[in-house]
Amino acid sequence: MDFTAAFAAVDAHESELLDRLRKVIAVDTTVPPGENYDQVVDLVEPEFKQHGFTTTRVVIPPEKVAQIPLPLTGDRVNLVARLNNGKPPLSVYAHMDVVPIEEGWDFDPFGCEIKDGRVYGRGVADMKGTIASLLTALDIMEREGLEPVWDLNVLLCTDEEIGVYPGLYHLALEGYATSPMLCMEGSQDPVLRLGSNGSLDVTITVKGKSCHSGANYLGVNALEEAVPVMVELLALKAKVEERRSKLPLAPAPGAPSHLRPMFNLDIINSGVKSNIVPASCRLVINRRFIPEENVEDVKTEIQEAVDRGMEKSKALDVEVEFSQNYPSYYQSATHPGAQRLREALKLVQGYSDDDFVETGSGGSTDMAFIAQVLKTDEIATVGLGRQRESKAHGSNESVRIEDAKAHVKELIYYFCAPLN
Ligand SMILES: [Zn+2]
Repeated sequence: MDFTAAFAAVDAHESELLDRLRKVIAVDTTVPPGENYDQVVDLVEPEFKQHGFTTTRVVIPPEKVAQIPLPLTGDRVNLVARLNNGKPPLSVYAHMDVVPIEEGWDFDPFGCEIKDGRVYGRGVADMKGTIASLLTALDIMEREGLEPVWDLNVLLCTDEEIGVYPGLYHLALEGYATSPMLCMEGSQDPVLRLGSNGSLDVTITVKGKSCHSGANYLGVNALEEAVPVMVELLALKAKVEERRSKLPLAPAPGAPSHLRPMFNLDIINSGVKSNIVPASCRLVINRRFIPEENVEDVKTEIQEAVDRGMEKSKALDVEVEFSQNYPSYYQSATHPGAQRLREALKLVQGYSDDDFVETGSGGSTDMAFIAQVLKTDEIATVGLGRQRESKAHGSNESVRIEDAKAHVKELIYYFCAPLN
């Protein structure tokens, strides 16, 4: 099948791609609070309808949203857009939220400014930009008379960047998601994903008794008495970080050869004033667990380390709370969907088979919920950024315009090349 004309049309209509990109990036979907999901849906839903899709807005029930321990406002509106032509289903996924804007931007994060062939904005790479490439692909397919070989099932989702109960998890539980899945949370690098770590937050509150610093024998210093607990936690960190997954990691400076668990003591809060002995000390650990680890075992070994620390501590009490952001999961680099992606990247980016690297990921993603609920590993991941240069989650997030167009072309190939 010849895609020359369609690919030329993508190049010829670059300005339409950039227009769509500007419109989706301009809507501030920073989470928390994540309050403008409905505006993104308002923007894109008519285009899906124009292309013959049936659309459904799925709003996450407030009691589910309440499980997420963050200040969230606004309805969590997800969009499901379906083509129904009796062909095999293909779910195509993007999330609409973006991480907050931190210091250090040289561009308007919502402005899609262009410099030296790159377009800058929060979410251009991760991953609202992919919504623009998807709509552009559908538009070019229609103009060029190309029919998708799939019944496309587009899922535009909420709250991926915070986890716990992302929109995609709800869509999977409610039967809106199907396997195989094309996840657009990837890159233009010649990389095939193999799965990722899960993510667990652990909040440990060590309790003492406050008193005047000038009469400290009247109290119990929770900060000082948290130290034996921290010592045990750091001993556990050393132990768990020795473990290795069977999943290899793409070579990168400082990276281990294989995916490994991570244990990070990330937050400590205690004390208000130097003349008050602190009554409590709160620690937050972010624990990344490999697919080979069982999350219940991970919780147990943390609880046991806390208990050992408490035996050596004079603290009055301790509370341990667990909040799982994401499970871990495996995805296949050899299923037909992954092969198809490899062919698309070869055709568009000129890669050869030798260029491809198969890798696990230390980050966590809502694809884990798809793997868990649908019991599938048939997930292929591609996006429009580049791991090393797009600065997803950083300041000056950007993509190459050439890569944005390449992504459109790959989608056209993925949707329209004949099924074997
Ligand atoms: Zn993302």
